[in-house]
Amino acid sequence: MQKQIEKYRKKGMKLTPQRLAILEYLDGNTAHPTAEDIYRAVKKKHPTLSFATVYNTLQALVNMGEVMELTIDPERKHFDPDTTPHHHVICTRCGRIGDVFVDYSRRLELPEEVTRSFTVTSNHIDFYGVCKNCERKRRTK
Ligand code: ZN
Ligand code: MN
Repeated sequence: MQKQIEKYRKKGMKLTPQRLAILEYLDGNTAHPTAEDIYRAVKKKHPTLSFATVYNTLQALVNMGEVMELTIDPERKHFDPDTTPHHHVICTRCGRIGDVFVDYSRRLELPEEVTRSFTVTSNHIDFYGVCKNCERKRRTK
């Protein structure tokens, strides 16, 4: 965390106590929180925190490549401080998001009519399903 703070400083990020609290909340966070989740959690310790501060800080971190913005949930954006290449799976009932650390890039082959017209530089894979919690809940109903 300390090393990261130095890095943000060097990149010219103004580190107010509120911004530091947001960074701290995100550090090692694997829950893929939304901006609202972050706002609610950090506001407990920093009652004067505004949603705009959370939003702006997240935008700055995304622009710096320090946080990934996830579009897997059509309802709202989620944020992931783990920027190593990976995919996600979302529960379509409760919205819980899990990590998928598998590299599929080498297994994806494009037909020639595509490669003739496009130089493809990236792809995007998301998985949809129902988490075990939701499955259990439905069975006991
Ligand atoms: Zn679920
Ligand atoms: Mn993730």
